[in-house]
Amino acid sequence: MSALPATLGVDVGGTTVKVGVLAGGRLVDTAERPTPRDPDVLSGTLAELVLPRVSRHDATAVGVVVPGVVDEHRGVGVLSATLGWRDAPLRALFTERLGMPVALGHDVRAAALAELGPSAPSAPQDAAFVALGTGLSAALVLDGRIRAAGGLAGELGHCDVGHGQLCPCGATGCLEVLASGAGMARRLQQRTGEPVVGAEDVARRAAAGDAAARAVWDDAVDALSHGLAWLVGIAAPEVVVVGGGVAAAGAQLLEPLSERLDQRLSFHRRPVLRAARWGADAARVGAALLAQERT
Ligand SMILES: [Zn+2]
Repeated sequence: MSALPATLGVDVGGTTVKVGVLAGGRLVDTAERPTPRDPDVLSGTLAELVLPRVSRHDATAVGVVVPGVVDEHRGVGVLSATLGWRDAPLRALFTERLGMPVALGHDVRAAALAELGPSAPSAPQDAAFVALGTGLSAALVLDGRIRAAGGLAGELGHCDVGHGQLCPCGATGCLEVLASGAGMARRLQQRTGEPVVGAEDVARRAAAGDAAARAVWDDAVDALSHGLAWLVGIAAPEVVVVGGGVAAAGAQLLEPLSERLDQRLSFHRRPVLRAARWGADAARVGAALLAQERT
């Protein structure tokens, strides 16, 4: 059996750029750098991370995934509130700087490809990947295909779950306000007046029995179960994979979430809820898979 050639995957996150080489089904030679916000400076950082690895591994292609609204067909970063770009011609910029074909994709849809696509141990026809990181969004697999809708599908974080508070996006009641990592940290900080470092800190304090942290965590789980109940009603996924930094909490998140979701459902298909197999690496593995597919 001939092995697939090595490909590179790059995940451009809100705070770090992560690179890795997918070879023989394993992610190797990984590295991380702080993310520059300017697309031109970013393409320089990509060149430093990518080009030595292309030579070392005799890699044939590179995939780069970015957050926000991404139009994969045009190769354009339509909007990233986190990185501050709008209609940035990223694929053209990166291809020129790297001197090789670049597959441009969306971070959460790429993670769904790694977790639920044809190369995954199971590839369900109907599934969802929920990324619980600094923000909150999802990717949908419908009838075996990842739904992009011009980059606008899967915005689970900005569905109204009824709490009535204003979201930075301009709407009220958004799931992200209560259940994203940044949302949880902000809420606990407001309650205690002490600095809170991300959702990991909330999870740690909640596990230690801190009442304020437990209340914030419970609100997040309840809101998330509300959002997932809508998703289950509309798309009937067989599996919901939960990834992103907050998912590192494991059973502390998944057990109460599964229980609360179960209480909200009646005749619906109950999805299997599980943590991402690739953990925090899912997006860069998906980026490398995109490179295999498209170049
Ligand atoms: Zn919103």
